Amino acid sequence: MHCPVCGEIYKNDDVVLLDEGNGTTHRKCYNKNSEQIKDVGSYREITNKYDFFESVRTP
Ligand SMILES: [Zn+2]
Repeated sequence: MHCPVCGEIYKNDDVVLLDEGNGTTHRKCYNKNSEQIKDVGSYREITNKYDFFESVRTP
């Protein structure tokens, strides 16, 4: 997966936000209302925590 703001592919240790629509954005790239954030963590943590990311998990 990649960040919709900067277009870069996420690395496992990038800090990402999970928003209301279950979309992800780098924390450093996020500039919308913070109330829409559901979770925050490293890309690896977030993708391992939520089943809907199963197909994009990296070992
Ligand atoms: Zn980004």
